[in-house]
Amino acid sequence: MKRLAVAKFAHESNSFTPGETTEADFRAYGWHLGNEAPQRYAGTRTSMGAVLDFTAAHPDWQATFLTCASANPAGPVADAVYEKILGEILDGLRGQQWDAVYLCLHGAMLRASNPMADEEIIERVRKVIGRTPLGISYDLHGNLGEKQIKAATVAVGYKTHPHVDMYETTEKTLRLLTRAVDGKIRPVGALARVEALFPSVNMRTTGDGPMAEMEAIAQAAEKKYGVLDVTVFGGFPYADTPYAGGSIMVHADGDEALAQKVAREVADEMLRLAPKFQMELPTPDEAIRKALASPPGCAVVLENSDNPGSGGIGDTPGLFRALIDAEPDVPTAFAFFRDEAVVAEAHKAGVGAVLDITLGGKLSDLFGPPVAVKGRVTMLTDGRFKNVGPMSTHLEVSLGRTALLDVNGIKVILTEHCVSPNDPGFLLMHGIDPSKLRLLCVKAKNHIRAGILPYVKTMIDCDAPGPATIDMRNFRFRHLPQALMPN
Ligand SMILES: [Zn+2]
Repeated sequence: MKRLAVAKFAHESNSFTPGETTEADFRAYGWHLGNEAPQRYAGTRTSMGAVLDFTAAHPDWQATFLTCASANPAGPVADAVYEKILGEILDGLRGQQWDAVYLCLHGAMLRASNPMADEEIIERVRKVIGRTPLGISYDLHGNLGEKQIKAATVAVGYKTHPHVDMYETTEKTLRLLTRAVDGKIRPVGALARVEALFPSVNMRTTGDGPMAEMEAIAQAAEKKYGVLDVTVFGGFPYADTPYAGGSIMVHADGDEALAQKVAREVADEMLRLAPKFQMELPTPDEAIRKALASPPGCAVVLENSDNPGSGGIGDTPGLFRALIDAEPDVPTAFAFFRDEAVVAEAHKAGVGAVLDITLGGKLSDLFGPPVAVKGRVTMLTDGRFKNVGPMSTHLEVSLGRTALLDVNGIKVILTEHCVSPNDPGFLLMHGIDPSKLRLLCVKAKNHIRAGILPYVKTMIDCDAPGPATIDMRNFRFRHLPQALMPN
């Protein structure tokens, strides 16, 4: 029986989100020890779900789950919780004989004292496990450095955005890792950087955008050169690190020069396409006007700049203010504000109560002042649902407690936790069927498309002040390479 150690420490950190990501944030999202992870992820289309299925299909391998921790994208990870989680993983690895180690990382983590936090994880893990084969999976938005490629035996990143291939990515990582352990392949990796900062709003692999083109180029190169894997990293531009920007990671079987050649070739293609990634977005009021004039069916306006999946805080008021001002006379919903105080007030007052409140602009005054409204409480929930869409299908999600308010005829969802409304279950659990709406305003970016497209007719991205705005000229970068500075 061969022994596989499994650990996850994943975070996408936004340097411009107010505050740090704390222990409480990891506890709220997912911090599992030992057998808790198999219990949570069994039967889900997630990385850990793939580990469970892989070991079930390969009885010669036995997985031991160490710490599996992740939190919603937000500010850099506080040093104390970083040390605690990594310390747990290192303690779990120490003093034991492993045949292989699998790490599930994001690739765009910052810790408060180090903008290359993933590299630090890998280096410290390497110190403990010596030459034991190490396989790593990454998100497509990873910002990677050369050292972490060299330190891993093999690594694979997502190929889709929305990320509907988390499961397949881990499955491929484990397949390559275990074949390397068995001496059937000898993976060697290379990384080629692309000197450009890519806005994540235009990084979908569905349709005919530039990222879809890049994935096709990468797949063709993988086939043409017979290499083990070609991964395109769009990077996460809001993580201020020397490793920001796009990059191409290639693993070949025993031929490092080939891996380098393929990586450089695909990176050159990405640099050629870089101008196609740039785009301009309408303001919230322009987007709402466009939505109301769109063909019949539900039109969705996406407030990209406060998407929790990009480090949004669920609190910027830009789109909501424009929605209130627009006074839409059609079935309309707004998802969401993270507002613990108003949720508590609503639960105390009960269904039917009318609250005199302000929404948005409370966690930070950087993105605009709060909006004063009256809201009637129409539903109260415990905020728990299971994903029904194609991303992390069947995984249970907790929004904390929630309240549904009627504000001037608009259904407004308030939550205690800051979670992207990517899965239709977020709306359905509040009795909102998107196909019955005319206008849906959401704090979300690309991932929502994976699940919501069957319900809606039109999707319109907009930009407003927020920690994930497409206009990065006002952000003060400290670690970004000079050539990548937004101007
Ligand atoms: Zn991502």
